[in-house]
Amino acid sequence: MVNTLGNRFVDEGEDFRNYTYAKFGSAILHQPGGCAFQIFDNQVISWLRVEEYGEGIVKKFIANSIDKLADKLVTEGLEDKHQFCQTLSTFNNAVQLRQQELPLKWDPAVKDALSTQSSRSSLPLPKSNWALPITEPPFMAVKVTCGVTFTFGGLAIDPDTSAVLSEKTGKPIEGLFCAGEMVGGLFYTNYPGGSGLTAGAVYGRKAGLQSAKLTLGT
Ligand SMILES: Cc1cc2nc3c(=O)[nH]c(=O)nc-3n(C[C@H](O)[C@H](O)[C@H](O)COP(=O)(O)OP(=O)(O)OC[C@H]3O[C@@H](n4cnc5c(N)ncnc54)[C@H](O)[C@@H]3O)c2cc1C
Repeated sequence: MVNTLGNRFVDEGEDFRNYTYAKFGSAILHQPGGCAFQIFDNQVISWLRVEEYGEGIVKKFIANSIDKLADKLVTEGLEDKHQFCQTLSTFNNAVQLRQQELPLKWDPAVKDALSTQSSRSSLPLPKSNWALPITEPPFMAVKVTCGVTFTFGGLAIDPDTSAVLSEKTGKPIEGLFCAGEMVGGLFYTNYPGGSGLTAGAVYGRKAGLQSAKLTLGT
């Protein structure tokens, strides 16, 4: 993944998608123009999720060489074609040297340790897993930006009862409960996928129990 200046900016193989998609969204937002290009080659195109990369969902740019792909991306905001090609070449070289030293099998189901790092070449910003050389045409690029799943801020609650805490006293406000999107203090710079609905279910149940108890006077 590269920005419009042709530079990589995250360790794309740091962890599974569910643990990186939120913080990578933020990293993309901080790039020039708030966007980035994801680059794939023929080895992995068929692995892309149809919900996210299917026809009509994203605009795809396809070419038979990195150079021609770069030409297409220039019309989409790529400012430094030379750096783009250089980044891919450096990346591919590092992966190929690691392959020679440590010929592991690519496996998207586990952290497979297929990285860009070896005794012969180490990138300042590694790709730690799932690093294959981007060498098999056709090549495909997708332009991406950041989406909003939820805000990280919200109301302070008592974790045992889901009662909203008063800012003045720090104590529960009687009869006022909060769950789901409006709760704050759970996540800060990242979150694992699925935890939004989990938090809603956990604190929603507590809020429901407590409000029922209050209503019934039990
Ligand atoms: C694109 C996207 C993808 C996501 N993917 C995941 C995921 O894969 N896994 C996961 O766990 N979480 C995911 N989330 C987060 C998850 O959807 C939310 O955390 C969750 O839906 C919050 O539930 P909620 O009931 O608190 O709020 P909401 O689902 O936002 O419900 C609030 C409801 O209140 C209504 N409302 C607002 N104001 C008023 C009003 N004045 N009067 C009456 N009604 C009102 C709204 O119309 C809405 O129906 C995703 C969120 C987004 C945006």
